[in-house]
Amino acid sequence: MTKITKLLVANRGEIALRIMRSSRELGIKTVAVFSEADRQALHVRFADEAICIGPPPSAESYLRMDKIIAAARQTGANAIHPGYGFLSENEDFAQAVIDAGLIFVGPPPHAIEIMGNKIAAKNAAAKFKVPLVPGTAEPITDVTKAKKLSKEIGYPVLIKASAGGGGKGMRIVNNEAEFSEQMERAVSEATSAFGDGSVFIEKYVTKPRHIEFQIFGDQQGNVVHLFERECSIQRRHQKVVEEAPSSVLTPALRKVMGEAAVNAARSCGYFNAGTVEFILDENKNFYFLEMNTRLQVEHPVTEQITGLDLVKLQISIAEGEKIPFSQDELRIRGHAIEVRVYAEDPANSFLPDIGTLKTYRRPQGHGIRVDDGFEEGMSIPFYYDPMIAKMICHDETREAAIEKTIRAIDEYQITGVATTLGFCKFVMQHNAFRSGNFDTRFVEQYFTPEVLNNPNADVDEGKVAAALAVKLFDEKDQSTLQSAPSEGINRWKTNRT
Ligand code: ADP
Ligand code: ADP
Ligand code: MG
Repeated sequence: MTKITKLLVANRGEIALRIMRSSRELGIKTVAVFSEADRQALHVRFADEAICIGPPPSAESYLRMDKIIAAARQTGANAIHPGYGFLSENEDFAQAVIDAGLIFVGPPPHAIEIMGNKIAAKNAAAKFKVPLVPGTAEPITDVTKAKKLSKEIGYPVLIKASAGGGGKGMRIVNNEAEFSEQMERAVSEATSAFGDGSVFIEKYVTKPRHIEFQIFGDQQGNVVHLFERECSIQRRHQKVVEEAPSSVLTPALRKVMGEAAVNAARSCGYFNAGTVEFILDENKNFYFLEMNTRLQVEHPVTEQITGLDLVKLQISIAEGEKIPFSQDELRIRGHAIEVRVYAEDPANSFLPDIGTLKTYRRPQGHGIRVDDGFEEGMSIPFYYDPMIAKMICHDETREAAIEKTIRAIDEYQITGVATTLGFCKFVMQHNAFRSGNFDTRFVEQYFTPEVLNNPNADVDEGKVAAALAVKLFDEKDQSTLQSAPSEGINRWKTNRT
């Protein structure tokens, strides 16, 4: 058992800050890495030390394993936390960290490898009797064969990228006539996004609800689950609103699904934090979708209902400690809802609307948590994810958590960019959401820009596109300026490069 004394966080934004805060409480020194676009970022200022690892594009900075490991060596960090996104689900990175004699705060590389490939993941889970969505068990390249299989499975089907993530490389096919075209698109999207064009086919589950379980394993072989999160409110197959617990699970179903999640983790010798995603159909049959081998964006809702700090737990498990509680000791306390505040324009197909946060005032009060990485006046770099913040509201009941979320959205003041806040308020007020009778098609079923009462909604599209182009141009200009070394940032210590 080796104690972590200094932790390098190989990430940026809210998640880097969130990890560093818990580390500091544990008396662990923190090291930030940053790209030239992030010189002024809050994670850089918060850290005890910070190292610049390259130009703004991720491929030249946050994805550079060699530079990150060199930064750990240079600062004497003895552990690396990858956060989410970037290198967090890259088994080569996890292995390189271990090979460098450092502690990787995450799962073992072989588990990342198995679960990083959706087909391998399904095959592993199947061996542990975890129910799967009907579909192909192998990658498929031949269109004729694929059509034949889809007919057997029954339309609609979903073509998915085996290496997929972030909702990319996924195509719904409603009938045979559409098949060839959609398959071509899925393959080309998968090739360009993941460098791997393998696709497979799944039955498209009707009225699907996305229910995932937070699991934790230790290096002694114990695995528990920390209950579920419901993430059915999505756009482009990506989550915008998450809550825990789900409004549809009964204690009995929770128990069965939780056990399946634990088995999925066991199927790949998992330890540390992970998420097992399921899809639930209208008859409450559940099927394994995939496992995310990292801390999840929406982990705070689980923290609020369990009272646990998942990052602290990750750290103690990485140090070799056992999970300090048993499954039976865990209880759900109240209800938590997270809304993701993206710099996106819901009135314009949720396209990124990056720029400068002219006004930025967070909501406050009982049961409200805001995890973000920005201050008023800062610009959102266009190189990275356009998420500004996550706002998490916790209260005794689901109804109270919904009312609190509406109050907090009203209090949140952001100008300078369009955000998803208005959309999230619409969700909170919608009867389908409030009654619990909704699924992943919520946005397409109920949402049109008009319902937002958004002053920008009637602006013609050409104007919006032109405005966006100007913003992008400004932003780019500014980042070029920022790449020149700037002075006057307080907390940078000796290792600044
Ligand atoms: P979560 O399930 O935790 O909500 P998301 O799918 O929203 O995860 O992804 C979390 C972050 O990781 C986002 O910044 C997303 O863009 C990024 N991401 C997820 N999967 C991939 C991938 N395969 N390649 C690149 N980025 C990814
Ligand atoms: P990613 O790696 O991009 O997160 P997932 O397999 O987790 O891919 O799927 C993302 C989302 O797509 C799910 O949350 C769900 O909304 C939808 N989805 C995935 N598979 C199915 C399916 N078989 N039937 C219906 N919806 C699905
Ligand atoms: Mg997923």
